[in-house]
Amino acid sequence: MKCSGCGANIQFEDPRKPGYIPREVFEKRVEEGKEILCQRCFKIKHYGKLEPVEYNWDFKNQLKSYLGGFEVVLWVIDIFDFESTYREDIANILKGKKIVYVINKIDLLPKAVTVKEVKEWVKRRIRTTNPEDIRVVSAEKNYGLRSLVKHLIKLTDKVLVIGVTNVGKSSLLNKICTHENTISPFPGTTLGILRRKARDANLYLYDTPGIMTKDRILDLLDPDCQKRILPRGELSRRTFKPRGERTVFMGGLCRFDIKYETELSPIFLLFSSKEVVFHETKRKRADELMKNRLGDFLKPPCNKSRYEDFKWKKETFILKEGEELAVAGLGWLSVRRGPFIVEVTVPENVKLAVREALVNPKR
Ligand code: GDP
Repeated sequence: MKCSGCGANIQFEDPRKPGYIPREVFEKRVEEGKEILCQRCFKIKHYGKLEPVEYNWDFKNQLKSYLGGFEVVLWVIDIFDFESTYREDIANILKGKKIVYVINKIDLLPKAVTVKEVKEWVKRRIRTTNPEDIRVVSAEKNYGLRSLVKHLIKLTDKVLVIGVTNVGKSSLLNKICTHENTISPFPGTTLGILRRKARDANLYLYDTPGIMTKDRILDLLDPDCQKRILPRGELSRRTFKPRGERTVFMGGLCRFDIKYETELSPIFLLFSSKEVVFHETKRKRADELMKNRLGDFLKPPCNKSRYEDFKWKKETFILKEGEELAVAGLGWLSVRRGPFIVEVTVPENVKLAVREALVNPKR
């Protein structure tokens, strides 16, 4: 027997594999003559949320097979975390498709940064020939959503929607779609796909499971802590002018040891969520803080943790004015006076990237 949602063969053995349903639930539903859905599809149908999936070989192949049925893909990206939510591996899979890039959470940036500037910045970083396909929005504040739908209906009547977890894909779809969800079976695939209809438009949006990443600070935190440190409202920012042997913490999981050789000491800003503690201290005291205050004073993590609970790495960068150093899933450092050398300590898998400034120095 097959699941009437995704079409996977029903099985009772392995909850992690497609088609699983507890045997007693199955028997009860057969007895009552009810539709047979696997556990995963049941959750999708009744709670309207797809469970996230790992980005692995299986998922890539499934994504490829869905893509066949679509001309247009809507890719939701988080402006707070561009480096880990716009990903080359995903861009490669989408090659040949018309991609509409939805750059979400614009409300987090300082008000002085204009939408036009953000668009230009994104345009320089992604492969697109048509700037109209970069849509800067805020699902939270309802900004840019109507014009996004207008743009989409000019292109097609069905769109595949993808994105890594926590970019605001569900928030966006909840704002532009009705509450009606249909599980959409695709031949040969077992991932849930949810077909949703846009309000007041002849447009169907096919939602896919959020793609889990492993290179964001966010990914290392428990779900409650993730919720706490996901930024709400404008980001917090603070200026630092460290002199001498100084260390600056952006929470407990990211440490900047500043080293400089020029006469002028560096000036930089940190941008992150309001829940993330910024703290400057003497180099000598930094080790002790890291060993003893992780998770109580230095947040995140949100609970007292041991230094040994994480595997750490150190990377050194030379940073110049006009550049930013992004720490995936946490925030960024923006240089105001440089150049200077910084040694960054973060957990092993966390992605670090130097980029052109998103928040221009004059802001
Ligand atoms: P998904 O995993 O991509 O479906 O993401 P969700 O829709 O669950 O959103 C993840 C988090 O981002 C939630 O805490 C949302 O409240 C928040 N979020 C979503 N859209 C926005 C936005 O436009 N601005 C801000 N500041 N937060 C947002």
